[in-house]
Amino acid sequence: MADLNVYELLNRKRRGGPLDAREIEMFIDRFTNGDIPEYQMSALLMAIAINGMTTAEMATLTQAMLRSGEQWHLRDRYDFIADKHSTGGVGDKVSLVLSPWVAACGVKIGMLSGRGLGHTGGTLDKLEAIPRFNARLSRDEFERCVEDAGCVISTSTEGIAPADKKMYALRDVTGTVESLPLITASIMSKKLAMGASGLILDVKTGSGAFMRKYQDSKALAQSLIAAAEGSGTRVEALITDMDQPLGVAAGNANEIIETFEVLKGNGPADVEEVTRAQAIRVLVMSNKFDDASARQALDDALRSGRALEQARKWVAAQGGDPKVVDDYGWLAEPTAVVEVKAPRSGFVTAIDTYQAGMFTVDLGAGRKKADDIIDYAAGVMFDRKPGDEVKAGDTIARIQLGETHRDAEELRARFLSFVEFGDAPPEKRPLIHEHLH
Ligand code: URA
Repeated sequence: MADLNVYELLNRKRRGGPLDAREIEMFIDRFTNGDIPEYQMSALLMAIAINGMTTAEMATLTQAMLRSGEQWHLRDRYDFIADKHSTGGVGDKVSLVLSPWVAACGVKIGMLSGRGLGHTGGTLDKLEAIPRFNARLSRDEFERCVEDAGCVISTSTEGIAPADKKMYALRDVTGTVESLPLITASIMSKKLAMGASGLILDVKTGSGAFMRKYQDSKALAQSLIAAAEGSGTRVEALITDMDQPLGVAAGNANEIIETFEVLKGNGPADVEEVTRAQAIRVLVMSNKFDDASARQALDDALRSGRALEQARKWVAAQGGDPKVVDDYGWLAEPTAVVEVKAPRSGFVTAIDTYQAGMFTVDLGAGRKKADDIIDYAAGVMFDRKPGDEVKAGDTIARIQLGETHRDAEELRARFLSFVEFGDAPPEKRPLIHEHLH
């Protein structure tokens, strides 16, 4: 490998020196082909995790990872097609509500989405709670759904960004997941491979977010936007709150029900507000709307029932039975429900949302190992949230059990260990913190 001195490159990056674009491209190409071994990639990942990357290096890394696999260039096939990505949270069903809602306003939207990661729920896992829903589409099937239903959500195919799959597996075992340039390149290589016209990023902040601190969430949003520079996909980001679960439901089947309830106009106000804010940005990015007309179109789609009708079309296009939208009896139902009561009167002041997410995963709603089987009926209903006044003995949450039964007292005690109460309500946090573009 005379033209790429891997040892010298690794040594230089370890000392914080620069990498040029050609070196990064060759390194990624050769690693993807198997010519560079995993121990050398692991060393590069560690050097990047410790020393960071310049914006130019990070953008080149993203492009090289995206070029390691298929590129769909969907923006060349449609006058406008949107995409959306969330950095993940607890009770985050925004993609599920947003897709049919935006499609009902005449704007196409498609997402290659992921499964649950750590304490966060996965959009695909939630969709697979719908019997026969096919979330593993080929590219042809993906495009047919865009034509038939105006929206689609599917798993990333094998061909998308194979470099990321190999690199993520190494990051997972080398302590290099938490690195801004590596997170950025990982997310954006997959997103840019689809080649949407516009992409809205929902970057979460707070105790249930991947980045808990505001300045870290903002740095991630800026980095994700910078990585898309010159890609042809217009990218905007909203920093939204994840200091408490979004909505009432966290799980899978219960989040599907909450999604349809929002589309019926009966959902929790926070889910509707966060989804609406992102839907407005998507409609405006399409150049068919300004802020005011986007707001109006979204209200009309919701009130007229068109957004809900679009959800029925979407479920049918991906192989599910659209009856599920109206009859939740098609979904897995909890076999038992454990109510958690407020131990004192006052206010709920905080929920450690990371702990709440891990609790939900432990019930069976998420995976701790890649081959764990999801229990779609398991989950939590957060009936009282920070800011709510409670009397001692009020029900503050319902823990929904699926196939595995557990000791009710232990579940209650664990739940109460991550909820705080006080005499006064906490300071109210905005749901939408900042819009970056
Ligand atoms: N999601 C990804 O796809 N990659 C990361 O590195 C982190 C979150």
